[in-house]
Amino acid sequence: MTAKPALAIDGGRPVRPAMLPYGRHRVDQADVDAVVTALHSDWLTTGPAVDEFEVGFAKAVGAPYAVAVSSGTAALHATAFAAGVGPGDEVITTPLTFAASANCALYLGATVVFADVRPDTLNLDPARVEASITTRTRAIVTVDYTGQPSDLDELAAIGARHSVSLIEDASHSLGATYHARPVGSLARLTTFSLHPVKHITTGEGGMITTDDPDLAARLRTFRNHGITREHHRREDWRYDMAELGYNYRLSDIQAALGLSQLERLGDLIARRRQIAARYTRAFAALPEIEVPVALPDREAAWHLYVVRLRLEGLRVGRTEVFRALRGENIGVNVHYIPVPWHSYYERLGFRRGGWPVAEDAYERMLSLPIFPAMTDADVDDVVHAMDKVLGHYRR
Ligand SMILES: *Cc1c(COP(=O)(O)O)cnc(C)c1O
Repeated sequence: MTAKPALAIDGGRPVRPAMLPYGRHRVDQADVDAVVTALHSDWLTTGPAVDEFEVGFAKAVGAPYAVAVSSGTAALHATAFAAGVGPGDEVITTPLTFAASANCALYLGATVVFADVRPDTLNLDPARVEASITTRTRAIVTVDYTGQPSDLDELAAIGARHSVSLIEDASHSLGATYHARPVGSLARLTTFSLHPVKHITTGEGGMITTDDPDLAARLRTFRNHGITREHHRREDWRYDMAELGYNYRLSDIQAALGLSQLERLGDLIARRRQIAARYTRAFAALPEIEVPVALPDREAAWHLYVVRLRLEGLRVGRTEVFRALRGENIGVNVHYIPVPWHSYYERLGFRRGGWPVAEDAYERMLSLPIFPAMTDADVDDVVHAMDKVLGHYRR
């Protein structure tokens, strides 16, 4: 019998000599050239490049209007504002997300209500959302977790039945489709993040799409201090601050980068889909792994590839598997610590145990590296490391 190879954390040889990160941006020479051109232009802050980026983005996702802002978080704040969220209101969202999806309600003096997720996709469970609706509910913020669109038809129907706005946090799902229609053209308000780990980046940045011209106008006002006319469109000195807005503008320098990246979106998503398919095929042979469930009526954009461990088949918990994989130089991660578990939310009165599906998934999940520049050999290293580590800890 051949001895099992020792884990790197026990002094063995790691599967890879250098760490493979879980996500990484890609900036090419065309991107650099576009930014340099913007630097030589008359506008550094919000100007013609932002206009062009908005038009290009709207076209790419099939939306009538796109409004660029300074981050995905600003996009959520602005959409919640445009949806009329205010003090005394309730906003329903998922516990399995980045904190910003929930924080946008708090910024506006509203209360967050976390509804549990579906056990298969880990997206908001429409039945749990409907059960959480009260007379105070103003908005639902659904998150397309890992890049797979939420149950948008069901959620829109719930919204319509109760006169509640549906906001789609599509930070993970730029490039995804639902019933053959692109994310960005589905909900009344859709938000995107352009952070470097996301599908395309502007360094920091965000985008909002909508089919409603009044909402688009309100969003533009909000991103510019609540002032009703954009500086570069002003003909004289008059302007009015009609709302309490913020400086959430994107710069022309950033927009130039975004516009250049947008041209490659199709290729970037195609590569993510290939990587996900390669993982899913390979993991069919590993009984301790539950692979992500991909529903047939929607095509995911694969921002993340999240597996769940079948802990009953292992002698250790997720933490030990995580550490062993990091030891093998596989940059695994966990998305996400349930938002209501954070100490700030605890101080607001949230207690663990209220979202059994999300909380069980959290205890067992690992995000594996996935980004377009990964080679097939990188993917195979991850598979090899999973095989090595899970084989070591198998009961
Ligand atoms: C990244 C992300 C955000 C926030 O985006 P920023 O651009 O970092 O502000 C919000 N929601 C989700 C689900 C995200 O993944």
